[in-house]
Amino acid sequence: MRTRIDDAVLVALRAGVPTSLEHHGILIAGERIEAVGPTDAVKQFPADRVIDGSEHLVVPGFINTHHHLYQSLTRGLPAVQSCGLFDWLAHLYERWSSLDYASVKLAAQVCIAELLLSGCTTTSDHFYLFPAGSDVRLEAVLDAADSLGMRIHACRGSMSVGRSRGGLPPDRCVQDEAAILADCQRVLDRFHDATIGAMRRIDLAPCSPFSVSPELLKETAMLARSRGVLLHTHAAETLDEQAYCLERFGVRPIEYLRQHHWLGPDVYLAHCVHVSDGEIDLLARTLTSVAHCPSSNMRLGSGVPPVRRMLERGVNVSIGVDGSSSNDGGDLVGEARQALLLQRVAGGPAAMTPAQAFEIATRGGARALNRQELGDLAVGMAADIAMFRADDIALAGAIAHDPLGALMLCRAPRADRVFVNGRIVVEDGRLAGVDAGRLAAEFNDLVRRRFRA
Ligand SMILES: [Zn+2]
Repeated sequence: MRTRIDDAVLVALRAGVPTSLEHHGILIAGERIEAVGPTDAVKQFPADRVIDGSEHLVVPGFINTHHHLYQSLTRGLPAVQSCGLFDWLAHLYERWSSLDYASVKLAAQVCIAELLLSGCTTTSDHFYLFPAGSDVRLEAVLDAADSLGMRIHACRGSMSVGRSRGGLPPDRCVQDEAAILADCQRVLDRFHDATIGAMRRIDLAPCSPFSVSPELLKETAMLARSRGVLLHTHAAETLDEQAYCLERFGVRPIEYLRQHHWLGPDVYLAHCVHVSDGEIDLLARTLTSVAHCPSSNMRLGSGVPPVRRMLERGVNVSIGVDGSSSNDGGDLVGEARQALLLQRVAGGPAAMTPAQAFEIATRGGARALNRQELGDLAVGMAADIAMFRADDIALAGAIAHDPLGALMLCRAPRADRVFVNGRIVVEDGRLAGVDAGRLAAEFNDLVRRRFRA
């Protein structure tokens, strides 16, 4: 199947910089992009289907590098609407201890639907809650991604230090370390796909350096490296966490990670709010990526990450919406805009440009996930493409001046059409084959019955 998009405004990299290109076209052949260029040139190629793109802005699918899809079950929960991270966690662990396979799958479908409708085509999911006696497994998340056509990095998370050992989670929410490692092996064996263009990969991801033992942290790193998969965790999110690490381990979080072989080109860390210039240099030197989650940092009052300094010093930064209980929206374009605005609060109007925000939400994510085939519209890349209507009222005026600037600075509309791996998953602003209204109604019913106070 060959699909051609004619006469659109594209945003693609030119000399490494996202650039708006008018009157351009794309040819999609199967799962890949086969041609990109001025419409007249691309029109030479025959296609089975031709889409008139003259009223569309066409961009590479956005990449979300940090999420907890199950958290839509406790999205907007009144008891934690105004809590900082540790109080928020202490309350929510109790609610999350009743998770099961069906509730996690439905919650993940809700979040994935929202992400797809925002033009996001790849998401990471950090799932670390396997309560005692529950039937929940990582497959709940993989099934949800499959059902909606999302490309996923499913992180097999873990927690092994419960309250009885000085940790935050109740003991029934943590697992035995041998069982964690055995299940990591199992999901790697069954589901990890290392091929270029893979729709599912498995990453390994202790919840945080302080919710597992030092031994498990090290063994997880060894297992990941023996299998060539990525490592992911939370790091340096709050001052409470910094104080906890200093008290318990005698070092700050980034140094603790370094001591346990947790920095490198195969590691992406969520947050990195409280990092010194020396720690930023260490992240840059080790090619460790950061998943910046601005809305969550604002919602929990965690602080303003020094993203401008990270970019200046050569750290690869990507964008994550974070879980739905600390960012009550899963809008990836909106999250890129939040990143831009938050840096300007701290660093003035030049702290982040629209092109930088766009770059970290696309190629930055691709680099963090070690996916060179994602994050740009170019020949040979995976056909992950988001199309936004240029005549949407939210972009009116701005799109005539600067399409890329319009998408990053205005309130972005929902995507009108989205391709993941060459397959249409959003069409005419609606999910293909899934009724979002029915999904939301079913989910609301579940939340009222099982997760409401
Ligand atoms: Zn998180």
